[in-house]
Amino acid sequence: MFAATKDIPLATTITGSLPRPHWFTENLRGQPFLTAFNGDAVYREQYSDAVAALVSDQTRAGLDLVTDGEMRFDVDIGGRSWFGYAFDRMEGLEQPRSGAARSVGSHRRGFAQRAGTPGDIMSEFVRTVLPPQVVGPIGPGNLQYDAIWKTAQRLTAKPVKMGSCCGQMLDRQAMSGFYKDRREQVFAFSKALNQEYHRLADAGCSVIQIEEPCLHNSEGIEGEVSSETYIEAFNLETAGLRGKTEVWCHTCWGNPFAQRLGKNPTYRHALPYLDRLDVDAVTIEAAENEGAEIADVAGTLSADKKICIGVVSHRSLQVELPDDIAVLIRTALKSVPPERLLLSSDCGFGRQGVSRTHAFYKMIAIVRGTNIVRRELGLPEADIPANDTRFML
Ligand SMILES: [Zn+2]
Repeated sequence: MFAATKDIPLATTITGSLPRPHWFTENLRGQPFLTAFNGDAVYREQYSDAVAALVSDQTRAGLDLVTDGEMRFDVDIGGRSWFGYAFDRMEGLEQPRSGAARSVGSHRRGFAQRAGTPGDIMSEFVRTVLPPQVVGPIGPGNLQYDAIWKTAQRLTAKPVKMGSCCGQMLDRQAMSGFYKDRREQVFAFSKALNQEYHRLADAGCSVIQIEEPCLHNSEGIEGEVSSETYIEAFNLETAGLRGKTEVWCHTCWGNPFAQRLGKNPTYRHALPYLDRLDVDAVTIEAAENEGAEIADVAGTLSADKKICIGVVSHRSLQVELPDDIAVLIRTALKSVPPERLLLSSDCGFGRQGVSRTHAFYKMIAIVRGTNIVRRELGLPEADIPANDTRFML
């Protein structure tokens, strides 16, 4: 259900993560969130203030839906925490004692070679992702997404979108050992996360974003795990949620160290599957290729789904201009009405890519560009305090 974006045509948001403020030096280091938040005064103060600062940045940018910037993530290497937050807290997983890295974390064609080349940035990602061994039944453990969401939502009247790395991405990285095969293992991850999302929805979270199915980036070469299995697993992960909250599926072309994982990526292979995802909205990257595939993706989605397009890149330091963003939005509006169109970044800003300043001005650009189109359509414009000339110094 559209619990967060029902009456907001051209609603704006970001994918989720933001660069940490430099003064936020504390880390969870594997602890459950509440252990640190309720037991460590320094962590509590730094975490609370960091989330408040980032919610404030997004509010000043005029975004309709905000996030907590994923401040639960430690200072890490290239965005390891996207996987690692779950790896370090879910039941049934154990870090190998040796701390040795696994050689390859993806079946993607050509990736193994990059991962095995010390001079390639992807090798640094693979060496530091520290995947766990599956040693028992997988459960949600100490994810505590409900507590993390509440900590942010109590700071603002705007909906706080809560995102999570999805089960099939965790499965792809984890080292098997307990379940009969990968299919059983991926279903186990999906079921465990479904329990966690229900706890989050029951706490009142009005929009949950699941990141992301292994469809568009597998090109049908996943070996023993087929696209059909991934669809089944994804829908197991979202089962029953749309009756309680708004469910988004995020897709992108990669973000470790803000890198794109393939050359000239395309959603072509995923097109037959996207509408079968049991979600309310599907996000796609659209900034880097100037919306080349918006019509194709929008054409496959039923009228009960919204499409969210990235209008700014998380990989480029160049802040997009509002006029150019408006052009991209007008392109999308040829394929989808404003009531079904959402605007965002291509992916998160917090993977050692852009600075906090770049992210801030990119967020403002999203809303300035959207306001141009809102004005043309006679829709109410969003207030952008950061763009108010009265407060210029
Ligand atoms: Zn992404």
